[in-house]
Amino acid sequence: MNLGLNGRVVIVTGAASGIGKQVAVAYAQEGAKLALADINLDGLKKVKKELKGAEVYIEEVDVTNAESCETFIKNVVKKYKKIDVLVNNAGTAKMGDMETFPEKTFRQHAELMMYAPVRLINLCIPHFKKNGWGSVVNTASIFGKQPGGLISYDTIKAADIMITKDYSSYCAPFNVNVNAVCPGPVDTPLWHADGQLGDQLASATGMEKDSAIEWFAKTNIPMGRYAKPEEIASAIVFLSSEPAHYITGVALNVDGGMVKSLL
Ligand code: NAD
Repeated sequence: MNLGLNGRVVIVTGAASGIGKQVAVAYAQEGAKLALADINLDGLKKVKKELKGAEVYIEEVDVTNAESCETFIKNVVKKYKKIDVLVNNAGTAKMGDMETFPEKTFRQHAELMMYAPVRLINLCIPHFKKNGWGSVVNTASIFGKQPGGLISYDTIKAADIMITKDYSSYCAPFNVNVNAVCPGPVDTPLWHADGQLGDQLASATGMEKDSAIEWFAKTNIPMGRYAKPEEIASAIVFLSSEPAHYITGVALNVDGGMVKSLL
């Protein structure tokens, strides 16, 4: 299938690691021109090195900072003259007790995973209108569809699905589709890095980190394993492709069968 992404200008946030990095790799394989944003500049430099042969622009961007986002979008347009695809992917997650979950952390998570995608969509819309074509994919989560016990994360990812739905209606008249992917647990540093979900799960269950991660997959995911980042990336790339352009307002589970609902 020709995905029609050759030469498309694609922005990916949170591209220095995990899912975002694989998304960048997948678009590069389709011949897209990449604009990669992350707070981790060293990580971005490594990704750029791995994408030898592809056209790749990287910039240190804190998506929670309006000025940083505005400058980034201006620089992308200066470099590539247009924007075709926006992948809102930067994010994090934290387990915590419901009664004592810090309000400050909740607000930071909302800035990062709820307001930043809105800000970036709004910054891209004038460029999509100019093109007469555009595509947005937001990385939500299955925990936006059913609770995962992470209060800030679940709430904000549910909001991301609604943001996706609202913008899909708003953007359809100017030929822009807006979708979300809802991954189940994915094998990325979000689980494996120090202090991240694997360690948090270990301390909640009293198990050793790797055993806790494996136990979670075996007891919660029908396919019995975490997704590979590549499996999320292929869904994102497809949703932004030419053959998928009529698909809009969808929140696509990529979860090894974990969500039980019909929606
Ligand atoms: P990851 O930690 O490997 O990557 C997240 C990236 O976001 C990092 O490179 C980080 O530097 C970047 N980032 C964080 N704050 C930023 C900021 N303020 N500005 C710019 N960049 C910032 O995590 P991942 O697993 O690849 O997660 C990517 C997305 O997928 C997140 O939105 C996450 O919520 C979502 N998700 C992950 C899973 C999973 O199990 N890993 C499941 C469902 C959804």
